[in-house]
Amino acid sequence: VSALLVSLALALYILLNDSLGQERLKAESTSRNVAEILETSLRGALHEVDVVMLSAQDEIKRQQAGGKIDRDALDAYLTRQQSFLPQIISLRVTDADGNVRYGPGVRQAAPTNLADRSFFTHQRDNVSDSLYFSPPVLARISKQWVLPLSRRISQGDGSFGGVVYANVALDYLAKAFTSVEHGANGTVTLYDDARYVVARHPSEDAQGSFVGRQASSPQLVSAMDKDGVAGTYRAIASLDGIPRTFSYKKLGDYPLYISVGLAEDDYLAPWYQQVEAALLFYGLFAALLTASAALLLRAWRRQEQAVLDLTEAQREGARTMVELRNSVAVQKATAARLELVLKTAAEGIVGMDPQGRITFANPEAAAMLGYVSPEKLLGLTTLEAFNHRLAEGQSCSQGFCAIRQTLVDGEVRRVADESFQGPGGKKLPVEYVMAPLMLDQKIAGGVLVFHDISDRKEMEAELKRSNTELEQFAYAASHDLREPLRMVSSFVTLLEKRYGGTLNEEAHEYIGFARDGAQRMDRMIHHLLDYSRIGRSKEPFKPVDLNKVVQAVIQDLAPAAESQQALIMAAPDLPTVMGDRDDLGRLLQNLLANALKYRLPDRAPRILVSAKTEGNQAVVSVQDNGIGIPAEQFDRIFAIFQRLHAQSQYEGTGIGLALCKKIVERHGGRIWVESEPNQGSTFLFTLPLASD
Ligand code: ADP
Repeated sequence: VSALLVSLALALYILLNDSLGQERLKAESTSRNVAEILETSLRGALHEVDVVMLSAQDEIKRQQAGGKIDRDALDAYLTRQQSFLPQIISLRVTDADGNVRYGPGVRQAAPTNLADRSFFTHQRDNVSDSLYFSPPVLARISKQWVLPLSRRISQGDGSFGGVVYANVALDYLAKAFTSVEHGANGTVTLYDDARYVVARHPSEDAQGSFVGRQASSPQLVSAMDKDGVAGTYRAIASLDGIPRTFSYKKLGDYPLYISVGLAEDDYLAPWYQQVEAALLFYGLFAALLTASAALLLRAWRRQEQAVLDLTEAQREGARTMVELRNSVAVQKATAARLELVLKTAAEGIVGMDPQGRITFANPEAAAMLGYVSPEKLLGLTTLEAFNHRLAEGQSCSQGFCAIRQTLVDGEVRRVADESFQGPGGKKLPVEYVMAPLMLDQKIAGGVLVFHDISDRKEMEAELKRSNTELEQFAYAASHDLREPLRMVSSFVTLLEKRYGGTLNEEAHEYIGFARDGAQRMDRMIHHLLDYSRIGRSKEPFKPVDLNKVVQAVIQDLAPAAESQQALIMAAPDLPTVMGDRDDLGRLLQNLLANALKYRLPDRAPRILVSAKTEGNQAVVSVQDNGIGIPAEQFDRIFAIFQRLHAQSQYEGTGIGLALCKKIVERHGGRIWVESEPNQGSTFLFTLPLASD
């Protein structure tokens, strides 16, 4: 029996010791997480203060350069900057004698003198301009305990001109400390690099009562001496004798350390309960065992099972506890990160409940819609909050509203052409994504992410306008050009008829040049007219069988092909696409004519038209065995009037491929070429397939 009791006690001990170890590890990681969250947020808050001081420095420099300081403007500037930062209670500027001259609450008649403050003497005696943290002081103007941050002000000639300083309220820091969970007996302390306490939570009375107190735990002290940036250790505080697990972290480059201590009493409370239960159980068991030795054997078997079940249950309990705590810490860190993302996102983000009422909005959403703050949006529906209009301009309550629909069916929707309008009244064209918020497979609300597309809309409208103008101009110009050209041609012909007999051979040759030129110009104008006509037809696209189009074009080109012993082949199963029958004919006509034209002199043209499908697109190719094109010209040939050859070599106007490109793009496709000089070229283009 006693052997049994001893081994049971041993088992219990091992078990409890193991779970104690786990609780400690858990506390270490929690304290690290909390220290990290505090470090990030404090470093950010101090950085904001420094940025404001730097901009105050700039403002003073700017005013100095202008000849003199405008007192009212500088006071107003400092007051405004200060109002942006809840963490500081003053932002002021002293002159070179330490008299506080500018900033909110300054008394001109009897200025407060800060010449004895360490930040003043530091900045006066150090020429280099750097951010200086001085130990906490009781502020003379506000009578609060503060952490002064300062930067030097230099005159035009580099001499000392005073100090700009900002007082961070220790109360603000203490409040930040209470915003993170650290248990009833936990502590949060901010130290400077001389180990002095700057602020602490909990505090016995007002902040400031710690000033002069130094860090005492050897682990922290040696870490600071070695310039360590973070660490975790266990120690018993000299102040209250409570054992704690501490994690500290340096605030980036700032000479400050944040330390978070979690009290063992707090994090081991559940474990103590476990120990108590186990001891109680053990005592009862021992009493029972010695009292009823006779029943031992029978009872033993049952008890053994009970012990096993119970310890398993305890283990399970301990495991659940660890998991639960871990997940709470992770969730907190995630929430902090998420909040940062929401606050700084360049997109408007709005969350809503299943009824479409807004439950949160980020600052960018409020700013874009013209609300003074995100809170003003809360509780409103999207229609009330931003007068959501659909693409055609009607209210979202009178048509298909993607936002509402997502709250019904849980589909993610992306919308490009609608508009919002806030209380400012300005219509905001937006692009947005509406996503459902699913909880337990139920729609628990939605998140709307939107951005302003006014610029893009304007550019599109502008582009459309200028394209239309250009087309109209090209059409009118080329139309009008034909008239005088016809005149040139007919008078040249007349000239030849009437005076042909009296002219010598040279004159005949000149007349020939003039006629050729006029004819070429006529062809160019003709092609230009074709080019500017693309896209004028208002006919909607219809299914077009490419087999028929290609056959018609081949027939057209048959005489030319025959004279060159060319062979033009088309694959038998070309697809049916959505498009304009005439334009597609023109496209293939141009490509096949080029394939015939740009042949090698000693090789009969072999041309193949084929196609394959990719998703809902057809990729059509026209392949020849002609002269080919150098790779560096692949883009150029699709531009208007761009040719690679002289007229004497290959005739042409340089419009054909530009026309092809315009046709393909009007159909929502793209055209390109693959080629190797002297091997041949393959022109490829995509078109939308007609759905069956
Ligand atoms: P054009 O044929 O009237 O000169 P295009 O716009 O049709 O004008 O063609 C532009 C240039 O692209 C041509 O000058 C030629 O150099 C090149 N090109 C077009 N098609 C082919 C082809 N199949 N093989 C080789 N070069 C070609």
